[in-house]
Amino acid sequence: MFDDINDLYQQVILDHCKQPRNFHEMPRCSCSAQGFNPLCGDNLKLFLTLDNDLIREASFVGSGCCISKASASLLTENVRGKSKLEAEQMFERVRELVTTGKATGDVGKLAVFAGVYKYPARVKCAILAWHALVGALKGENNPVSTENDLN
Ligand code: ZN
Repeated sequence: MFDDINDLYQQVILDHCKQPRNFHEMPRCSCSAQGFNPLCGDNLKLFLTLDNDLIREASFVGSGCCISKASASLLTENVRGKSKLEAEQMFERVRELVTTGKATGDVGKLAVFAGVYKYPARVKCAILAWHALVGALKGENNPVSTENDLN
């Protein structure tokens, strides 16, 4: 899929795809949101445990392509310990990264998705979990779809 992307990036994505982190339901979560990308068939549910404004725990379940699973897995690691505002700022950075290949500010391990912008069909796979995150933080109960007024 990635012809000229850094091998290390590819390895991280494959690793998180094959062995997703925090891949479980969270029965007593503070909030959750379902995300669906009909173009690819990615379908995942994100769970968050909040402590006032802080994200204490994040997990997900679901099925989808390697990019969507790796993105959700890395998201759950990335947002732990962040405030809601910081998580929303990270969403904006990741969206910028996957659509342009560059990000304003530090994206940590999410940098592995820097090559996704070259594959427009995969951008929604990479950003799906982040849409679900924002939906969960806003307390929206409706499933989040990449094909509904999201971009
Ligand atoms: Zn996908």
